[in-house]
Amino acid sequence: MGVGHPECPERLVAIERALKRQGLWSELEHQAPEPIDVQWLKLAHTEDHLRRLAVPVPVGTFRHIDPDTCMNAQTYEAILLASGAVVQAIDAVMAGRTRHAFCAVRPPGHHAERGAAMGFCFVNHIAVGALYARQKYALERIAVIDFDVHHGNGTEDILANEEGLLMVSLFQQGIYPGSGTRPKGPNMGNVALPAGAGSREIHAMLEETWIPTLNAFEPQLLLISAGFDAHRDDPLAGLAFTEDDYAFITEALVAVADTFCPGRIVSSLEGGYNLDALGRSVAAHIAQLQR
Ligand SMILES: [Zn+2]
Repeated sequence: MGVGHPECPERLVAIERALKRQGLWSELEHQAPEPIDVQWLKLAHTEDHLRRLAVPVPVGTFRHIDPDTCMNAQTYEAILLASGAVVQAIDAVMAGRTRHAFCAVRPPGHHAERGAAMGFCFVNHIAVGALYARQKYALERIAVIDFDVHHGNGTEDILANEEGLLMVSLFQQGIYPGSGTRPKGPNMGNVALPAGAGSREIHAMLEETWIPTLNAFEPQLLLISAGFDAHRDDPLAGLAFTEDDYAFITEALVAVADTFCPGRIVSSLEGGYNLDALGRSVAAHIAQLQR
C-alpha cells in the first residue's frame, strides 16, 4: 500500500515472530497457498470489478482505489493467493485433514463489496469462501463471524439475504465504514459496541447474542473474519480488547464448532495494526484453535 501504511508486510512478520516466541510455530502444519481460480471469485464479485483488479499495474507505481487503498504490481497476485488460501483451508477442513485452519493473508477482505474495493480490501476472501463452500460442498448452514473492529460492510453486502448463510459481527460504533447499525438482511447479526468496550462487554455480547444465535443456527462450517484491531493498543480504533479476549472469543467459537460441525473452522486475517499487539493476539487465537 506504500511506505508508512498501517496495512504493511511487517504485520505477517510480527505474527510469525510471536508464534515462534510462544513455541506455537513448530507445532503447526504450514501450507503455501495456490492462487484461486478466478471463476470462484465471480460467486462474490461482479465481472466489472474483477476485470478492473486484473489490469496490470506497472512496476514501481501505485494505482489508487481510494485515499487509503492502492495496488502495486504484486497486489493482484497477493489477492488471488489470499482467496486461494481460504478455499484451500476450507477444502482441508471439509476433507477432515485438519479441524481448524488460520490463513495469515494480506491484503484483508471484509470491506470489499460485490462491485467495489475499499478500506485496504479488494476481494472478500471470507465471502468468497462462504459461497464456495455452499456450492462445492452443498452446505446448508455456514456461519461467518467477524470480530474486526470495523464493520464488515463488504461481507454484509455480498452475503445479506443469501440462503444458508448467517453472519454475526461486532464493530465499534461510529467509525469507518459507518455501516452496520441497520442490517441489510435477516441473516445479519450485527452488534455495535461503544468506544472503550472491552472484556466485560465482550463476555456479555457473546453470552447474550452470538453464542445463542450460532447455537440456534447449528452451523456446518464456521468462517472467521479475524481482525485484531479492537485491541486496546491498536492505533486505528478505540475498543479495549486484550489477547485474553481474543482467546475467550475463539474458545467460545471452537465450542460451537465442536458441538455442530465437528471442528471445521477456517479463520482468515483481516485488520490489526499495532504489530506487537497483533502478534500476541493472533498467537492467543491460534493457541485456542489448536486445542
Ligand atoms: Zn479493521
